[in-house]
Order: sequence, then structure tokens, then C-alpha cells
Amino acid sequence: MRILLVAPPGAGKGTQGALIANHFGIPHIATGDLLRDHVARRTPLGRAVQDHLSRGELVPDEIVLEMVRTEFIAAKAEGGGYVLDGMPRNITQARALYEIALTLEMTANVALHLKADDEELTRRLLARATLEGRSDDTEEVIRRRLAIYHEVTHPIVDWYASRGILVSVDAVRPVDRVARQILTALEAMRPLIDHVPEHVRQPIDLTGLGAAFGQD
Ligand code: AMP
Repeated sequence: MRILLVAPPGAGKGTQGALIANHFGIPHIATGDLLRDHVARRTPLGRAVQDHLSRGELVPDEIVLEMVRTEFIAAKAEGGGYVLDGMPRNITQARALYEIALTLEMTANVALHLKADDEELTRRLLARATLEGRSDDTEEVIRRRLAIYHEVTHPIVDWYASRGILVSVDAVRPVDRVARQILTALEAMRPLIDHVPEHVRQPIDLTGLGAAFGQD
């Protein structure tokens, strides 16, 4: 499986990304984690991006694209599957990523969109701040990260819908319920993915499904 996660900050993409990667035995490539690791190790790349991270701004596209190209080459050697979490963050990255993946014959099968409202996201991020002490989990920076998500990241959801690879899930539910719904949908899709071309596929919206079965 080759999966992209598109989600606002605080929607649980790190948690769900790790669970999906573990379930399918594929690498979990999280651009935020990779960047934070560079900052912690004070590498030249880390020093170049640390201000962007603490202000909640996106780091330059070329930096993340190069980082992900390297990770994709490693993922290809391990079988070619991946869960990419935190990228693409804008339409330029989406197009460039598509080109990189095309060259490596690793274009995504599924773009998984985790949906949550700003109020819930802010509540979760502030709760996480006390636990993890991330420099970008202050109220002001959270507001900026959510604004960037709405302005430049969310529009790429439509691009994936038009490619027929979008699956939308309601992320404002307990982690295990969200995970179960995601894994059930991905397992159901798995046998079809290599046989049904993207252009005949339709976006899948599972956001009303939990409520329909009295799970909310
Ligand atoms: P995340 O852990 O995905 O919330 O990312 C934390 C921070 O890392 C973001 O606020 C950005 O500063 C930076 N970042 C992560 N992924 C990207 C990306 N694909 N493009 C630009 N900046 C990114």
C-alpha cells in the first residue's frame, strides 16, 4: 500500500500513520518527525529549519521534497509501500511529489483525509503541549498552523478527489474507532488497488458512517 495522509495539525496523523504502517508492515515517513530530528541533532538542515518550525511556518518546498525523495528510495528498496505523513502541504509539493513518485513507480494508491474541526484540534494540541512540550504547540502558533492548513494544504484534498484516490474519515472520535474504520476501508480496497485504474475510481467519504451505525 502507498498512502498519503492529509490532515490538519492535531487530527492524529502521527498516531494513525504509525498504526497503518504497523498493520501493513510498511515504512511510516513523517516529515515533521524527520525535521524535528534534524533540529534536535543540530544538523545544518536542522539549523536552517528550526525557526520555521517554531513559528509554525512551512519549511521551503525544496528541503522537504529532497528529504522525501531519499526516504522514497529507501522505501522502494524495502518493497515500495509507505505511509507518508505531513506531506504534501501545498499544491506545489503535491505536484512535485507526484513527479518524484512517478519516476520511482511509487505513486500513491490512497490519499487519506482525516477531518476535524478547529475547536477540537486546538483543544487536542493544547493538551498535547502539556505532555510533549513541542515548541509549536502554543496558542498563537497553533492558530497560525491551522490558518496555513486551511489556506494552502486543504485545497489539495480536491486534487486527490479528482484523481479518484481520496478517502475521507471523521477523526473526531476515539483513536481506536478511527483506526478500525481506516484499516477496514484500506483492507477492503487492497485487492482492488492494482486492478482498478485511478481515473475510473470515485472519492470515498466515510465521515457519516460512524453516526449511521450509532457509533458517535
Ligand atoms: P507536523 O509534525 O506534520 O505537524 O509538522 C511540524 C512542522 O514541520 C510544520 O509546522 C512545518 O513547520 C514543518 N513541516 C512538516 N512537514 C512539512 C512539509 N511537507 N512542508 C513544509 N513544512 C513541513
